[in-house]
Amino acid sequence: MEETTGRSTKKKVVVVGGGLVGALNACFFAKRGFDVEVFETREDIRIAKVVKGRSINLALSHRGRQALKHVGMEEKIVSKGIPMHARMIHSLSGKQSPIPYGRKGQFILSVDRANLNKELLTGKIFFYSSAKVFVTYVAAIFLRSDGSNEQIKADLIVGCDGAFSAIRKQFLRRSRFNYSQTYIPHGYMELTMPPINGEFAMKPNYLHIWPRNTFMMIALPNLDKTFTCTLFMPFEEFEKITTGDEVIEFFQKYFPDTIPLIGVDALKTDYFRLPAQAMVSIKCSPYHIGDKCVLMGDAAHAVVPFYGQGMNAGFEDCLVFEEIMDQLNEDFSTVLPEYTRVRVPDDHAIADLAMYNYVEMRAHVNSKWFLFRKRVDNILHFLMPKTITPLYTMVTFTRTRYHEAVDSWHWQNKVRHFLKMCLLFRLCHFFFPAYNLLFRGRCSFCLSILVL
Ligand SMILES: Cc1cc2nc3c(=O)[nH]c(=O)nc-3n(C[C@H](O)[C@H](O)[C@H](O)COP(=O)(O)OP(=O)(O)OC[C@H]3O[C@@H](n4cnc5c(N)ncnc54)[C@H](O)[C@@H]3O)c2cc1C
Repeated sequence: MEETTGRSTKKKVVVVGGGLVGALNACFFAKRGFDVEVFETREDIRIAKVVKGRSINLALSHRGRQALKHVGMEEKIVSKGIPMHARMIHSLSGKQSPIPYGRKGQFILSVDRANLNKELLTGKIFFYSSAKVFVTYVAAIFLRSDGSNEQIKADLIVGCDGAFSAIRKQFLRRSRFNYSQTYIPHGYMELTMPPINGEFAMKPNYLHIWPRNTFMMIALPNLDKTFTCTLFMPFEEFEKITTGDEVIEFFQKYFPDTIPLIGVDALKTDYFRLPAQAMVSIKCSPYHIGDKCVLMGDAAHAVVPFYGQGMNAGFEDCLVFEEIMDQLNEDFSTVLPEYTRVRVPDDHAIADLAMYNYVEMRAHVNSKWFLFRKRVDNILHFLMPKTITPLYTMVTFTRTRYHEAVDSWHWQNKVRHFLKMCLLFRLCHFFFPAYNLLFRGRCSFCLSILVL
């Protein structure tokens, strides 16, 4: 429906959910000159002292930055972020070993969720807080806090209302809509590590990780010189700890170096402040209904947080939609199906990768073999940058489509395996005389191809 009253013939877009992705989407549509209205169930994020979210800080990387850049917000957000150049692995004995994220100069940024959300909502948009929205796929029914309701018609309804999306529920009522959700057995809990003498308690430009195989803790720096520590652990383990003394006993056993930094009293109280939160991975398809309604961000694809890509993928959704809008002249009847076609395989790929990284972060980084392979990967990338690019680099520092990054990773594994074989046969050639008798005249290259 086009608004024809007064001088405006602008298209009207209703964005449901004023979280990170909804707020950024509003900027994209406003930049195009659309009338944008954002409906958010929570109180006004722009004036709220505490913005409730699912983590205090987040890792912003290339995809998210590219989307922010498109609406002129990159510099502002980056200037308030803290660069993290490497993971810092904390062993049980307290030894710290850095593993760089990429090449020299590459980093991800720790950003404040509340500040990011506020900054994105200060554009030319109408923002309705404390508004619950129910959606039929042609109109949003906006329930005011006083109990009255109003039906709002729009040219497009964009569902950015998070993992438990009310809009997606409307999709579920239609046929040929695929949907799956998986809760992982782990929950998470956030604890604060305060500054010491006005300074960060640990080195600030790292994402600190305490990998303990079946569980782990991570810590990201904040501008106020605190760290937000997030403990990821199976729910039954959280539930086993019922007293303050048991918390200290547990930390003494697994994270002894953090006790003086977080503080005994803080640990004893903060652990019981909130119960551990669940994590869910959601996939669905298609992302649209006709030319009227589309899902983006966690509403379309909630992913577990272990690749640091949930928000970045959601921001990239907005950018991909924008690119398709340009290609197809803002014609929603073709833009929406194309968006589903392009985006679903990528979002499903990052959902799978995030699940994979769940094991890598808490267990593999403890293994010497894994660290050796990471080093070899970096050397190979340095020697053959066009042929070998580590998966983490493709996901975090490029806009390679997620599903192409996965395909390329599988292909590169074959190349790596081949190079390993070549090396092995070459070493045999030098060290085992019997090998020369057996395979006389056959080069390592040919033998490697045979083995493959
Ligand atoms: C512990 C943890 C750590 C994470 N770390 C990272 C990270 O480092 N990097 C990264 O990229 N991602 C990270 N993520 C993922 C990231 O938080 C999400 O992907 C991101 O918040 C998704 O944004 P969204 O706007 O789609 O959804 P949300 O942030 O959930 O926002 C949805 C909004 O919709 C509102 N809403 C809900 N229902 C309605 C309704 N009916 N009507 C109106 N409004 C409604 C909600 O109040 C909310 O404000 C992490 C997630 C977790 C849990």
